[in-house]
Amino acid sequence: MLHCEVAVPVPLSHPFTYSIPERLAGIVVPGVRVACEFGRAHKLAVVLSVSDGPVPMAESRLKPILSVLDTAPSVPAELLGFLRELASYYLAPIGEVLRLAMPALERAALRELQSQGLFERQDKAVGGRMMGFARAIDTSGEAPRLGPSATKLLAHLRATGEAPVSQLKEIYPSAPTILKKLAELGLVHLEQRERALDPFFEHPSVRDTPPVLTDEQLAAVDAIDHALGDRAAKALLLAGVTGSGKTEVYLRAIATCLQQGRGALVLVPEIALTPQLVSRFRARFGDSLAVLHSGMSERARHEMWRMLREARVKVAIGARSALFAPVPELGLVIVDEEHDGSFKQEEGVRYHARDMALLRAHRAGATCVLGSATPSLESEALARSGKLQRLRLIKRAHATASLPKVEIVDLRRTGPGPSGNPLLSLPMHRAIEKVLAAGQQAILFLNRRGFAPSVLCEGCGTIASCPHCSVSLTMHRSGGVKLRCHYCDYETAMWEKCAKCACERLVLIGLGTERLEDALCESFPTARVLRLDRDVAAGARSEAVLDRMRKRQADILVGTQMVTKGHDLPDVTLVGVILADAALSLPDFRASERTFQLLVQVAGRAGRAEHAGLVLVQTRLPDHPVLRFALKHDVAGFVDHELGNRREANYPPFSRLVLIRLDSAKEERVKEEAQRLADVASRQAARQGKPMVEVLGPSPAPLERLRGRYRYRVLLRASDRAPLRAVAKAVQLAAERTDRAVRVSLDVDPVQML
Ligand code: ADP
Ligand code: ZN
Repeated sequence: MLHCEVAVPVPLSHPFTYSIPERLAGIVVPGVRVACEFGRAHKLAVVLSVSDGPVPMAESRLKPILSVLDTAPSVPAELLGFLRELASYYLAPIGEVLRLAMPALERAALRELQSQGLFERQDKAVGGRMMGFARAIDTSGEAPRLGPSATKLLAHLRATGEAPVSQLKEIYPSAPTILKKLAELGLVHLEQRERALDPFFEHPSVRDTPPVLTDEQLAAVDAIDHALGDRAAKALLLAGVTGSGKTEVYLRAIATCLQQGRGALVLVPEIALTPQLVSRFRARFGDSLAVLHSGMSERARHEMWRMLREARVKVAIGARSALFAPVPELGLVIVDEEHDGSFKQEEGVRYHARDMALLRAHRAGATCVLGSATPSLESEALARSGKLQRLRLIKRAHATASLPKVEIVDLRRTGPGPSGNPLLSLPMHRAIEKVLAAGQQAILFLNRRGFAPSVLCEGCGTIASCPHCSVSLTMHRSGGVKLRCHYCDYETAMWEKCAKCACERLVLIGLGTERLEDALCESFPTARVLRLDRDVAAGARSEAVLDRMRKRQADILVGTQMVTKGHDLPDVTLVGVILADAALSLPDFRASERTFQLLVQVAGRAGRAEHAGLVLVQTRLPDHPVLRFALKHDVAGFVDHELGNRREANYPPFSRLVLIRLDSAKEERVKEEAQRLADVASRQAARQGKPMVEVLGPSPAPLERLRGRYRYRVLLRASDRAPLRAVAKAVQLAAERTDRAVRVSLDVDPVQML
């Protein structure tokens, strides 16, 4: 009997089996969307496989597929196979993975289902790409008599010149009918135009002339071209210092791939996906580029998907979730800044887009290029074992640019500058003065937003902390003085006196970006200071801030991590790291790696063009190895050192981890449940024998309480994947019996350890 397995986009682990009625034989193929009965509801599902063999259950109990929504697979075979493997790797429900991959399609199709009735096949486009525009036509002849609304609308159009019909409709609800009449009378010109899909495409692109490659770039491009030519799955690590011109290498590789008639996928960190970056790609490939990002409308996302699906566009660029773009005949996958933490999804299906990019490319027989100035230790380990071919760019691309000089300011020995603020040391003050005098720009990096990270009562030692999370509240000043939790966004009025002992001796501890901004404005009254952090800017607004820097409308940019990412600001000659140590003390085995990457990346913002750059790093731990290596831009040295530490402590890349997280509003329950799951894990691990799977914990998470929920965890560790998976699966099975008061989630290859 002909039947198929389908996945329903709901968080259930298993595919479901349905029979295929005769009239739909040959039409139900893997990757098409179908409607089927699920419980009592009609649901949209994606066909995973079709079979003629024996049915795994009584045939009479099989329900039939009701209808098919696509004439061709909505999810191409390559992508479907990849999604199934991804689901299996992360022990995630296939339905949920599918939902990740096709969110817009699903909703659009559901709407279609509702409006068209269930049994109609449709292959019509969902959502229109065209947009009506109206323009008044100059007429000298006698005006015909018009009704009052038509007269008003015409006057409006004559005043504004041209307007989208949809916009007119908002003012004059019957605009479409009126406009049609006016057009018949020859007073208005109506036109259907392709609508700009995305703000990224609002301005037409100007093509650039590719620069002459440097020798190093040429060698890298050659190696990638070679891999593309072989059409064998091959992965390369492009290790190029900041400003070495990695993007140009990507552009050439994509051009080769397109020449072969194949498509390319480019993944970048969310924050790097700026109009500036996109315009570099558009300057080379014009509009035949699909841009995928989180701020996109559903319709635009859906349209991008369709353009790729119909191979009208062959290059997709986007952040993490672009991993699932249906790029036709995938030939090349690029992951820029592959070390970036934002490639890991931290909720739902906790996939790592860089790891999965390698998998997808491998399965598709595509070339994969991971690029970074500070490769992750995972990628370094792969390169050292020969699984990634290493390509090096050791010089900056710009003929006159060189890597900036990095100097350490030992805060234990150096006093504050004229501001009196201990975190604006004298050397830092002098360096800023010099930059301002030379008419250049500075970036100051501080990894704390707000005014002061904590408020302390000197009377009883109480620190203002969040009632829902185990962290202190940060004092914010801009937008009204407030205390705010950076984890759950809880907000309360600033203490006037201690909430516990009513003492009024309150002190502000530490320094946030707001306070730094203040101190700078005071010390350098003529300098134009801009701040960039999550409080002032999200998405497009952060781009506006960077744009002002680029246009020289500001002298100093103060900010959090947001200032460290790939920005190319040629007049920045000073980068100041206000306090390098903060991130080093986090209870996370990647703390050193992250701090090193951060330091090298932020240092990389200085001296990118003609002027030499200087980086000043303030610290109380001047002898910390991370700082010593960053000082010399010694990536290889750091990697050697840190790999040694990881090997000794048996952490990735020398072991594999699965983190079991539990949280609950009830502390006792979560503790008990964590213990139960740890016991299940230990028993399974014992059954497994060697090589051993270690079960660490249960223990409270470093951030014990978050949003009012108590958090516990159990960490599984092993050198091999197979036994680790077996234990993780046993835990997953046991967790199905966990009561609703406790939430359990499994994180394969965890990144966020807090
Ligand atoms: P990376 O991504 O490696 O940090 P970018 O790709 O941003 O570096 O390049 C840094 C700067 O060098 C950019 O301004 C870019 O236009 C320029 N550049 C890149 N390749 C060349 C080249 N071959 N000749 C001249 N300038 C180049
Ligand atoms: Zn909180």
